[in-house]
Amino acid sequence: MTLTSQTHDLLVIGTGITGMSAARQALRNGISTAVMESLFFGGLITNVNELDGEIQGSGSEVAADLMMELSRLGAKSIAATVESIARDGDTLVVKSDAGSHRARALIVASGARLRRLGIPGESEFEGKGVSRCADCDGPLYRNQDVVVVGGGDSALQEALVLAGFARQVYLLHRGAKFTARQHLVDRIAGHSNVSIHWRTRVDAVLGDKSVQAVRARGLEYDAAGELPCTGFFAYVGLEPACDFVPEAIERDAGGFLLTDAGLQTAMPGVFAAGAVRSGYGGLLRHALAEGTAAAKSVKVLIRA
Ligand SMILES: Cc1cc2nc3c(=O)[nH]c(=O)nc-3n(C[C@H](O)[C@H](O)[C@H](O)COP(=O)(O)OP(=O)(O)OC[C@H]3O[C@@H](n4cnc5c(N)ncnc54)[C@H](O)[C@@H]3O)c2cc1C
Repeated sequence: MTLTSQTHDLLVIGTGITGMSAARQALRNGISTAVMESLFFGGLITNVNELDGEIQGSGSEVAADLMMELSRLGAKSIAATVESIARDGDTLVVKSDAGSHRARALIVASGARLRRLGIPGESEFEGKGVSRCADCDGPLYRNQDVVVVGGGDSALQEALVLAGFARQVYLLHRGAKFTARQHLVDRIAGHSNVSIHWRTRVDAVLGDKSVQAVRARGLEYDAAGELPCTGFFAYVGLEPACDFVPEAIERDAGGFLLTDAGLQTAMPGVFAAGAVRSGYGGLLRHALAEGTAAAKSVKVLIRA
């Protein structure tokens, strides 16, 4: 259902796991809540088929369960991209491409996007060998060679998915050791078709109509070379999706939103939770917990 120009107790921006968790808790607390989403519910986790961590199943299953619960609890759903937020007296005004919306409180749960390397060829070959989703595109690289860049949880998790399809996975990491959790490092070590290149940087993605190689540089000896491959997947961290948040709301050096212990930002009535927030733990259990915590803070504010 699409709504415009209505006033709600609470507007939640983003229906990733954090936003849905927040809306669920708010509705359980009897707070009239609408959720706003620019794409599709689920966010970053949607395409992860096998979750790693305490939560079982696939990302889309977890997201669908939450969305069904929201429908049952009576959440209003607004398909819209939020463009700005501002305070107008006692209410907060959210402007979006679907009109203007008012609320007594806001939870910004707009999450994060995979960071780009910003190297030549990366944008040019997007969808032509450059991918951001191993679960979606892995089968396309059956018996082919692919490059994965990164050394954190996401890079290793996605390299493991690709190892099930590709002939060879080249895992390129700038550092001399992984930052991923140990059980992922152990699993990577058990795959004979994953070769790890430490202290290596990618300078360019090369090809004609699609990806044919990457140009990589060994940082130890500053030696460059080409690595033939048909697929390229970079997992080098996240950048916050909060361009619409006013400058009055403080950020950390990476642009993630700063909050107090109750998850309230510098603008009274505006809360931030999940991957968009500075200090977020990084896993789904943190998303669920932060969404719930933000909704509890909203309850205190609204009932005060
Ligand atoms: C490749 C990968 C694999 C992962 N695997 C695991 C795992 O196995 N286990 C685990 O515990 N964690 C995993 N994680 C981490 C987990 O996915 C995230 O911590 C979690 O999904 C963050 O949820 P979120 O709701 O805070 O943000 P997001 O998932 O980013 O959701 C934000 C939502 O807000 C919407 N939005 C953004 N801007 C606007 C706007 N202007 N207007 C309206 N809507 C907007 C977006 O479309 C999106 O739907 C993985 C992460 C990645 C990248």
